[in-house]
Amino acid sequence: MLRSLGLKLTLAFLIVAILSVALVAILIGQRTMTEFNQFVGDRFQHTLVEQLTDYYANNGSWRGLLDERRRGPGPRFLRTRPDMAGIILLDANKKVVFSNLPGDVNGAPLPNGAYHDVALQVNNQTVGWLRLDLPPANRALIAGSPELAFLNRVRIATILSVVAASLLAVLLGWLLARAISKPVRELTLATQAVAQGQLGHQVTIRSHDEIGQLAASFNQMSCDLARATQLRRQMTADIAHDLRTPLSVILGYTEALNDGKLAGDSEIYETLHSEAQHLNHLIDDLRLLSLADAKELPLNLDEIEPAEVLQRAAAAHQMRAQQAGVALEVDAPPGLPAIIADPERLAQVLGNLINNAIRYTEPGGAIRLRAATQGNTVRLQVQDSGAGIDPTDLPYIFDRFYRGDKARQNSGESGLGLAIAKSIVEAQGGIITVESTPGAGSTFTLALPTEPV
Ligand code: ADP
Repeated sequence: MLRSLGLKLTLAFLIVAILSVALVAILIGQRTMTEFNQFVGDRFQHTLVEQLTDYYANNGSWRGLLDERRRGPGPRFLRTRPDMAGIILLDANKKVVFSNLPGDVNGAPLPNGAYHDVALQVNNQTVGWLRLDLPPANRALIAGSPELAFLNRVRIATILSVVAASLLAVLLGWLLARAISKPVRELTLATQAVAQGQLGHQVTIRSHDEIGQLAASFNQMSCDLARATQLRRQMTADIAHDLRTPLSVILGYTEALNDGKLAGDSEIYETLHSEAQHLNHLIDDLRLLSLADAKELPLNLDEIEPAEVLQRAAAAHQMRAQQAGVALEVDAPPGLPAIIADPERLAQVLGNLINNAIRYTEPGGAIRLRAATQGNTVRLQVQDSGAGIDPTDLPYIFDRFYRGDKARQNSGESGLGLAIAKSIVEAQGGIITVESTPGAGSTFTLALPTEPV
């Protein structure tokens, strides 16, 4: 079978071109034939009418013609070619004067035929009729006649044009097919390259048509794939790193206790417990993320009053805020439409955002929790007057294990908080966004649906 797209397209172009050119050639050929016959016939008839009326004008009657006819074959202009046969001359009373058809001139019945009478006029008086046995256009041209030779030349020219047009169609079709199939071939090679592990491989975008869009989508997909793979690698390394730190503390202490190098006391047990708890949290977080990735995060959706959920979150973190010297206020009008969400998960997200806000706000600063409607969503905001986020960090802060402040890499924060918040919010049909001005503070916004999604 035809395996190449280019070949298929070339053949398709060729078939279409040949069919249309052939159709045009046939139609033109037939039309030329009819028109040409008509022309030749009209000219023959016209000449004959002129010669007959001249004859009558010169002789004053048809009598001389009759005499000539009796004596011999008649005047030269009535001796017609076989393809123009069938001339009958009638006088003004439509009596036959002359006929070159078989049969007697004087009143003998004429052979059947579709007669066609043309009046012969001298000085505005009808002096006779020319009767032709067939309309001129219906006559067949005889072999060897110059008319037929002309028609044959026209036919040859048409055939040559068909051949030339077909050759041109093959050439143009081939060029066009190549132009169409080239980017497809490039895309195939690029797909194979990606399949063989060359993630991020790009193709040149040559046009803005569907193939150009396909190339752009491929480039985007290839980039995303490379980034996802890079993130996955980074995440595995981060997980290993985050597990190793508390584990090595636990191992160090337990070995020392086991060897008797260290005597157990409540402080050591406290440390061991807190490191184990840290590991537990990390594993819980990772499990939650993987459930959210698989769209299997269990949710207990309920109707939640926006003002109430913010009040409760503020109450839960008031103490920590006070300890950090940061004011924590709620600014939410009552009577907002209820949000459809899982109350515990929503409290977890808000807690996360408030904890971050407290952590990144200097004493004396303020954190404001707001609620407002927008379309068929309610927007919950956690706004702080803290350090803000560097614009270079901003696009990545919802990524897993991303920590903006590199100096805090080993602070014990996992860098999973915002990634988890994003997963939970999106699992409930919401959107989380951030706006931040370094030095002036950050605002995290949750847009949550007020109707079940
Ligand atoms: P972490 O566990 O490090 O807090 P998060 O996912 O919660 O991880 O946050 C990711 C990064 O986003 C943080 O390391 C920090 O740089 C930045 N960030 C988050 N919230 C705030 C905030 N309110 N103000 C300034 N920076 C913030």
